[in-house]
Amino acid sequence: MKILKRLIISILVLIIIALGYLYRNIADRHPGYTLNLNINPSMQPGIIQIGFGKIPITPEIIDTWNDMDGNAKYEPEKGDTYNDLNSNGEFDAVWIAGFHHLRPAQGIHDDIWARVMVLDDGQTRMAIVGLDVIGLLHDDIVDIRKTLPEHLQIDYTIICSTHNHEGPDLVGIWGESIFKSGVDPKYMEFVKKQTVTAIARAVANMRQAKLKFAQNLNDGSNFVMDTRKPQEMDPGIRVIQAIDVETDTTLGSLISWGNHPETLWSRNLLISSDFPHFIRESVENGVRKGNKVLAKGIGGTSVYISSSVGGLMTTRPDFPIPDPFTGAQLTGATFEKTKAQGQQIGLLILNALNNHEAVDIEKANIKLRAKTISIPLDNNNFRLGFALGVISHGTTGWMNVRTEVSAFQIGPASFITIPGEIYPEIVNGGVVSPPGQDFAISPLEVPPLRSFMQGKFKFVFGLANDEIGYIIPKSEWDEKPPYLYNDDESPYGEENSIGPEAAPIVYKSLIELLGSLYND
Ligand SMILES: [Zn+2]
Repeated sequence: MKILKRLIISILVLIIIALGYLYRNIADRHPGYTLNLNINPSMQPGIIQIGFGKIPITPEIIDTWNDMDGNAKYEPEKGDTYNDLNSNGEFDAVWIAGFHHLRPAQGIHDDIWARVMVLDDGQTRMAIVGLDVIGLLHDDIVDIRKTLPEHLQIDYTIICSTHNHEGPDLVGIWGESIFKSGVDPKYMEFVKKQTVTAIARAVANMRQAKLKFAQNLNDGSNFVMDTRKPQEMDPGIRVIQAIDVETDTTLGSLISWGNHPETLWSRNLLISSDFPHFIRESVENGVRKGNKVLAKGIGGTSVYISSSVGGLMTTRPDFPIPDPFTGAQLTGATFEKTKAQGQQIGLLILNALNNHEAVDIEKANIKLRAKTISIPLDNNNFRLGFALGVISHGTTGWMNVRTEVSAFQIGPASFITIPGEIYPEIVNGGVVSPPGQDFAISPLEVPPLRSFMQGKFKFVFGLANDEIGYIIPKSEWDEKPPYLYNDDESPYGEENSIGPEAAPIVYKSLIELLGSLYND
């Protein structure tokens, strides 16, 4: 009996330790944090100040085969996998996020960045950050906000991930196994610190500026494909150019387009920011090759923000991109093709800025709404990831996730921020209710979000202040057979979504914010 009693006590102790561990992993990291911003300008449109800042967030790639003195740490044998290397305890990689596990970075092709545009109308100051990473979760965004120095006087910070698939893991699910986070905590701290520094630089660089808004709503569709029915994309390219009023030179630009930055695809092991690198380079320095110049650059610092990338916007290796200089159709997953893609988008942006439909403004003010929302975490794999600490993210209530949406207007442009990868049909229209759906409902997320936005230029910032995964129309949600359109396989997307309630909640919250923005 004594042994049995001891055994029972031991088991109880183990259960308590395990529960404590799970509780610690899913506990709210920011208890009481809630945001509710209602900013109505109290004056007429006035002087605008704009500043740009940038700083690399490129990780240090340590030679994975050798130690610091150059001595071989481990002699790989033929047929070794990365798992074998790791079991030796010597293999500590920078894990590249996206596609699958076990993508250890082997070098750097181009820097990845924290790039910032700060806008100030004399009353409200906001920072818009573009990070060349797969995603940054809301808890980490709040960490950054809490460390922003008071003297920067930022009223609202929007931190967007480009969703780069060729940079380090900052979410956790692309490490060496599904049970081990791919995030290096030291690198995470570095990214947060660099982001704060980039914002501070942008504030220090603020100058009185005029803004030029331009767009090309259709031609971007030549450089992106949709891999899931219905065929709906978000091909519009939108740009804001900020020009120093005194010197008439470009301070920088903010560019937005909807495509997964993953043209380099899954076998690339060199750190890169993928096509956004080549878009920014083209806009800043022009599209040129030797003496041949297809378009002159505008200078300054370009910030790239992804718009709707869900459902699924991508450039597969078999999708050809024409070289802008030779017209040669480039396929595969090469840097040459990725550069051509960036140059093509860069050309569309530079031409749009010279088009008579571009709009210049010298005065403006910022009207803004932002609020914390809560979404149930319904994905069992994500729940397990949270509980095991693979995804370092707290929960609120019983397995809910705190996230955020916002809507704002500046002159002729309106903006909404989306905390993940939204399906373009929710933004532009075309939500369907196909046969095989899991919920027998008509489209919920209608009419489309852009129809509630005002002004000529309607920006959608995706993966903004969070990455909750795919935001899928509830009437298109499909995990169980029969599958959508009676296809043989289930569609891709649901396994990387927080759950079927994400889209209705994000949609409804944004409609409310837009209603308040224009009517209150
Ligand atoms: Zn994605």
